[in-house]
Amino acid sequence: MRKFLLSIAIVLLWAVVSPAQEAESNFQQDAWARIPESDAARVEALAQEYKDFLRRARHELLAVAEAKRLAKAKGFRPLEEMERLRAGDRVYVINRDRAMILAVVGSVPLVEGATLSAAHIDSPRIELKANPLYEKEGFVLFQTTYHGGIKKYQWASIPLALVGRVSKKDGTSLDIAIGLEGEPYLVIPDLAPHVDRPFRDRKQQEVLKGEELDPIVGTRPDAEGSVMGTVLAVLEKKYGIGREDFISAQLALVPALPPADVGLDASLIGAYGQDDRLCSFISLRALLDVRRPKLTAMVYLAANEEVGSHNVMGAGSSFLADTVLALQEKAGGGEVTFSAHRRAMRSIHAVSADTPTAVHPTFASVQEKTNAARLGGGVVLKRYGRGTDPTSEVLAKVRALLDSNGIPWQTSTYKVDIARGGTLGRFLSDDGMDVVDIGAPLVSMHSTWSLSSKADLWWLYRFFGAFFAME
Ligand code: MN
Ligand code: MN
Repeated sequence: MRKFLLSIAIVLLWAVVSPAQEAESNFQQDAWARIPESDAARVEALAQEYKDFLRRARHELLAVAEAKRLAKAKGFRPLEEMERLRAGDRVYVINRDRAMILAVVGSVPLVEGATLSAAHIDSPRIELKANPLYEKEGFVLFQTTYHGGIKKYQWASIPLALVGRVSKKDGTSLDIAIGLEGEPYLVIPDLAPHVDRPFRDRKQQEVLKGEELDPIVGTRPDAEGSVMGTVLAVLEKKYGIGREDFISAQLALVPALPPADVGLDASLIGAYGQDDRLCSFISLRALLDVRRPKLTAMVYLAANEEVGSHNVMGAGSSFLADTVLALQEKAGGGEVTFSAHRRAMRSIHAVSADTPTAVHPTFASVQEKTNAARLGGGVVLKRYGRGTDPTSEVLAKVRALLDSNGIPWQTSTYKVDIARGGTLGRFLSDDGMDVVDIGAPLVSMHSTWSLSSKADLWWLYRFFGAFFAME
């Protein structure tokens, strides 16, 4: 009984002294209304920077290149160039040009804690097969497959860019981005309504089937009457690549339309690839602002999330652990014991940052609205259940962090038996971290042009600022 009373007393004392408990709740508040007039220009500037990032970063190769460019401009250096690390140092490590970790070194050792945001820089897309070129009905086309969950019909009759890398037997590589800066587009042709009667009974999932996602590459015969000859000549002349070079290439077809404001009030951003370059960019942007944190602040940009996070570029790889170990060694100036490394991994406060699906005005019935995220509703704390949630204690700390920093926020739990989620969190928790799932919501997620709210971007940016400043 005495023990019980003592714990009540401690709880009451905590309620009195904790500033987080005093902060007013920002749960399910209007994210636009919470933006002070004095920040309006900064909200717009952040939205513009984000659109600039999305315009270039349409593939993990391009996202890493862009993140590296932004980080270098803010004083970040490759970790391998650093002899010793000191508090305030700004470093990055790039994994095979397709994944990246950036860090601002804290004033306390990594075993005493760090903050980490992990997001993914791959998005659903169409990819070229290893031997893609073929001829049919006077056309040359590409054989393709796809990466992540796409609604195939959306990819017909829209301008597509071809992006990625071709590597040659001589050891050189060539980065390709055709269709973003005035070059020709590739297009998967649709069937006219005049002649599509035989296909009208197809189900939504089969409006276009996987093997029907082949874009037109050329139609003009060369002097010998061969369209393939023309295409091969263009590839050789413009890019120096031959037919077999596709075997050692990673080329993707992505929507070519640039990001833009949406709505007469310009409140939304429409763009390809917002899942999850939204959280990737916003966490990166917040890290670029971090100066001398107490806890080392890290951003992890991973590839392959849309296909299960496997392979050496995915969050299932050892890249994060290897990087934390390298940070420990360079900060301590020598070898690190296994137990010190494990302790550092377990001490990381982790956020898995990814975009949840927001309420759609016409199809609102697919959500259970009491627990659904809305555009303009602020930062989303995702609770998908099924054993994916962090502990109640950790969730309470996140609420306190959001409320004490005046950040409007909401929760998201999908309608039961309608949808499921799951992203990078499990790979971080495998390493002993408590992981909180955070994001900003999207309408038309996984489409060729999804929608986000500028207000949510802003508050997610403010959330990361508060998170990286945690003590
Ligand atoms: Mn995602
Ligand atoms: Mn996704």
